[in-house]
Amino acid sequence: MTDDHTLPPGLHRETLAVREAMPRSVYGENSEALYLTSSFVQPDAETSARRFAGTEDGFTYTRTSNPTVASFERRLAVLEGTEAAIAASSGMGAILMLCMGLLKAGDHVVCSRSTFGATMSLIGKEFAKFGVESTFVSQTDVDAWRAAVRPNTRLLFAETPTNPLTEVCDIAALADIAHAAGALLAVDNCFCSPALQRPAEYGADLVIHSGTKYLDGQGRVLAGAICGPRKYIVDVFAATVRTAGMALSPFNAWVVLKGLETLSIRMQAQCANALQLARWLEAHPAIARVYYPGLESHPQHALAMRQQGGMGSAVLSFDVKADGVDALRRAAFHVIDSTRVCSITANLGDTKTTITHPATTSHGRLTEVQRQAAGIGQGLIRVAVGLDHIDDIKADLLRGLDTLSA
Ligand SMILES: *Cc1c(COP(=O)(O)O)cnc(C)c1O
Repeated sequence: MTDDHTLPPGLHRETLAVREAMPRSVYGENSEALYLTSSFVQPDAETSARRFAGTEDGFTYTRTSNPTVASFERRLAVLEGTEAAIAASSGMGAILMLCMGLLKAGDHVVCSRSTFGATMSLIGKEFAKFGVESTFVSQTDVDAWRAAVRPNTRLLFAETPTNPLTEVCDIAALADIAHAAGALLAVDNCFCSPALQRPAEYGADLVIHSGTKYLDGQGRVLAGAICGPRKYIVDVFAATVRTAGMALSPFNAWVVLKGLETLSIRMQAQCANALQLARWLEAHPAIARVYYPGLESHPQHALAMRQQGGMGSAVLSFDVKADGVDALRRAAFHVIDSTRVCSITANLGDTKTTITHPATTSHGRLTEVQRQAAGIGQGLIRVAVGLDHIDDIKADLLRGLDTLSA
């Protein structure tokens, strides 16, 4: 690789989003190269020995590192404003890496009870098998987080806003609680991405990503990452990936690397669409309630606007009106099944608008009582707004909303 063209300091985030990467190869490609190789040929045995010992930089094997993956890591780190980043095969791969790298038997984790379902299972069930203790607390009750901390608390894990009710937590307040206890705060920044929210600016130690969502942005690949200081990324998590193997494939890294180039502009457009849709839904007589941080009616609206660069992100949910669990589910299914443009899928962060019924998909394994406690009723519908023209999405939802009692 050649380093004939170094970027000047002080560039804006938008510029770095399209330019930060490993140096170009000798061929001078303008679009970053895809190094689809599992291993790297060494010039001689002495050099090989030094690289394997880690005393000399250089690529050896793609489970350890790869130039395309390294380009994605560098670009994501500059966008999050952290010293470094390390990629994982998926968002859950990143959270597994976090737990494997940081926790041991006897440690305790405090986690929001509104985080992604697989995150709660991983921390609360899988790591319980290895003697890691956990307490799940209200997303928005700072005192509950403080009260849950114990002498053996090593990690606080938050996600903001959450899926599907878009509850927002105060990152700075949680960082203070973590640091006073000698623990670390990790924040899953999936819903906002660094285009809106940079948790490290509010004191989060580690930032988690499912690159599958907005970072790719076009629903193509699975990817994940942890961003943070070198002393964790390089000294702790690099060894975890090398040993445990949740490495990101170079092809997927390349797809997400290119996705980052349009992240900011996509987020702005999708957030604008989502705000318009949320306002419009709030005024529709068939809808009981809309959950969207960009609305003044959202309980943490002011905090969200401060923390998320004035934007509400592009995911919103709403409750349709009906009496009783069965009627609510029938009404929600009617609205979903009447769409002809929206994709019926539980994924989010795509340019294509997606629609889903949380109670029977992402939260389908909970009991009805657990779901009610979590506020996820049978009448709840989640829409992850994409780049479709907003009038087409409104018309698509109206097909079901206007024929609800028919
Ligand atoms: C999807 C998602 C994950 C898991 O990411 P995968 O790439 O699907 O493994 C974690 N956290 C949040 C908030 C998510 O939406």
